[in-house]
This record gives sequence, structure tokens and C-alpha cells, in this order.
Amino acid sequence: MAPNTDICSKCGSSDLKPPRHVRTRGVTASVNAELNVITCNKCRFAEFYELTEEELVPYKKQVTKIFIFAMVLPIVIGIAVPIWLIWG
Ligand SMILES: [Zn+2]
Repeated sequence: MAPNTDICSKCGSSDLKPPRHVRTRGVTASVNAELNVITCNKCRFAEFYELTEEELVPYKKQVTKIFIFAMVLPIVIGIAVPIWLIWG
């Protein structure tokens, strides 16, 4: 059964902030925890919900994009700058 994220489990208020995605890593554990933080606007109580594999798909795509960008851009610059220096 999916957790009830519609109401605050502390004060019962339905005035909740939309889930915010956080990635956290334990001090000794090598695995990352992908969590949604839901904060109550009324009492500021925050709850953590672990993301399902399905919910993680867009984040994984995003991470891949960032990874490619971070890998490809320095290579392109590393090639373009010497060419510019030689031909410029
Ligand atoms: Zn609350």
C-alpha cells in the first residue's frame, strides 16, 4: 500500500509542500538513498518517503545527462582550444 502523503501524520493538516527529491548517502553505507521530503506547512513536520524504481526513472535520466555533459564538454574544450591556438 502506498503511503498516505495527503495529510500530515503529526497534526493531520492537508497543507503540505510538494515532495522534494533528495539524495542522501550514509556515513558507512555505499548505497545512496533516494527520498522525497514532504514538509507540513502548519507544524513544519517533515517526512521522508523512499522513491520507487518507477519514480526514479526521470532522475536517473537527468543524472545520465549531467554525466554525459560533464564528460563530453571538457573533451570538446580540450580539443577545440589547442586547434584554436594552432589555427588562430
Ligand atoms: Zn503537520
